[in-house]
Amino acid sequence: VGELNPDVILSGPDVKPEPNKEKLVERFELTLGSSSAITACVLARLGMVVKFVSLVGNDEYGRFCVEQLNGYGVNTDCVRMTDREKTGVTFSLSTPADRSLLTYMGTIPLVEPSLIPLGDIAREADHLHFGSFFLQEGMKPHWLELFRQAREKGVTTSFDTGYDPRERWDREMIEPLLAHTDYFMPSETEAEHIFGTSDPAELANRLPAKRGTVALKRGSKGASLLGPSGAWLDAGAFRVAPIDTTGAGDSFNAGFLYAALHGEAAEQCLRFASACGALATLRIGGVQGAPTADEVREFMALQR
Ligand code: ADP
Repeated sequence: VGELNPDVILSGPDVKPEPNKEKLVERFELTLGSSSAITACVLARLGMVVKFVSLVGNDEYGRFCVEQLNGYGVNTDCVRMTDREKTGVTFSLSTPADRSLLTYMGTIPLVEPSLIPLGDIAREADHLHFGSFFLQEGMKPHWLELFRQAREKGVTTSFDTGYDPRERWDREMIEPLLAHTDYFMPSETEAEHIFGTSDPAELANRLPAKRGTVALKRGSKGASLLGPSGAWLDAGAFRVAPIDTTGAGDSFNAGFLYAALHGEAAEQCLRFASACGALATLRIGGVQGAPTADEVREFMALQR
């Protein structure tokens, strides 16, 4: 791991590399990342038919991403490769206590509107999930339009904003999008950044009236669900001994969508999602060892 830029340290109470000091590790593992890719793989592992739309660099890392997605059974017909940019790589340092996202290398190739097969989505899909850093300049109006058209065609929608401390959230853009979103899945940190609070009661007041269900992810405190009626439902976290929390939120999203798209009641969606989130903390990286739906149910039964 080369020189560390302190501006891009995201978290980690016990691992705070000093500016410009090297942090050497004994070994590292290459795993598939990005919120939406993890959600896609976990959904496929749970048994859903998933198509992933993305752009990666035409390089070793890009090919690794496509191989991994295919390995989990995700359809990658809409994953394009570009020579313009390299696939982004993130180094994160995992310790038993926490995960520190240390540094990004390269840029994240930006998906252009022309890459999004709106016709196919409307024809083939029951659901459209968007999970990524939201503030990709130029794409915001397209996402709004995409969500609007998807809903018009009977496709349900969800999104997870992701968290990037270098970006400022744009509440004015997210609010119109929420009017076309069935499931909005922010973490507490994201809720703080967008709406200035993660307190459920306050958040309920600050969210626009025209919105779908909100699933608020609260780490080891569990998760809460705000239904369209305005009532909150809480689920405590399952008791686990985490080794790496990478992808817990993305796995939660997958679990929630799996249950919701199978018509489960809100309480069960929240519980199934929380189980997927908790199970994700027991593995290194976001996708390796992702559970099948039966494995999630077994875990839930044991924790009753
Ligand atoms: P994100 O990864 O987006 O920051 P969270 O850390 O809130 O999201 O994790 C998502 C969900 O995973 C939580 O709402 C919770 O259900 C589960 N989870 C996360 N961390 C733990 C933990 N330490 N113990 C049990 N469950 C956890």
